[in-house]
Amino acid sequence: MKVAVLGAKGRMGMESVAAINSASDLTLTASLDIGDPLEQLTKSGTEVMVDFTTPDAVMKNLEFAISNGIHVVVGTTGFNDAKLSNLKDLLSKHPKVGALIAPNFGLGAVLMMQFSQTAAKYFESAEIIELHHANKVDAPSGTAIRTAQMITDARKQSKKGAMPDATKSELSGARGTKVGDVPVHSVRSHGYVAHQEVIFGDAGETLTIRHDSINRAGFMPGVLIGIRNVAKYPGLTVGLENYMEDMK
Ligand code: NAP
Repeated sequence: MKVAVLGAKGRMGMESVAAINSASDLTLTASLDIGDPLEQLTKSGTEVMVDFTTPDAVMKNLEFAISNGIHVVVGTTGFNDAKLSNLKDLLSKHPKVGALIAPNFGLGAVLMMQFSQTAAKYFESAEIIELHHANKVDAPSGTAIRTAQMITDARKQSKKGAMPDATKSELSGARGTKVGDVPVHSVRSHGYVAHQEVIFGDAGETLTIRHDSINRAGFMPGVLIGIRNVAKYPGLTVGLENYMEDMK
């Protein structure tokens, strides 16, 4: 399979290039970074494009790839409803193309999100603390947003009311930002890679689910699963958990 990486000089892009080069069933066709012509994707016969660029750059790259029949595996974060809706429109014009938007390629992180969705049905309170390196440009993280959405959906399904919170006055931001029902708190500091705690509470007990990415190589098994399977899933897929059957 012929694979190209966009954002190839970035931290995740460099790891992806190394992972693709070490996989005997994959051939790296192009390593592109800012300013490189996207036409290299078509000229090199690329079948799957991996994007680890920036929230501002990603849509232009996806438009080019999808319009040229190239499947896309996207780790770049910052996708809101408007961006996802634009992507769906574009994919509807190219129905054979698959697009995987994965807020987190860590297999442990995918399980953390799934465990959180399960726990959400049983606890009155849920909050998220995500901790990342100081160079991250978006907050909250894509993983935190996705986890909060999954928790919110689970709470709706189990008809949970508003979370208990007696706060009457606060300094702006002290209670985090709400994503759906869930307060999310973002920490940015040197020393971290990517970490998240999901805290559930009910009378007399709490449950904390924590995931730690120790280094960026930890995301690569998930990226390779995405590359190898994206063509099987035409249209838009959000979340690597939808490829769970392909992980075993
Ligand atoms: P990074 O080190 O800043 O890398 C981004 C790279 O993309 C840089 O080399 C940047 O070049 C380049 N770039 C910017 N615009 C471009 C364009 N139009 N075309 C091609 N390349 C372009 O960031 P990172 O830590 O690798 O993270 C990249 C993205 O992945 C972020 O959105 C991050 O949140 C996300 N991420 C996702 C996961 C996941 O599992 N899904 C895990 C970690 C990170 P310049 O530096 O010259 O601007």
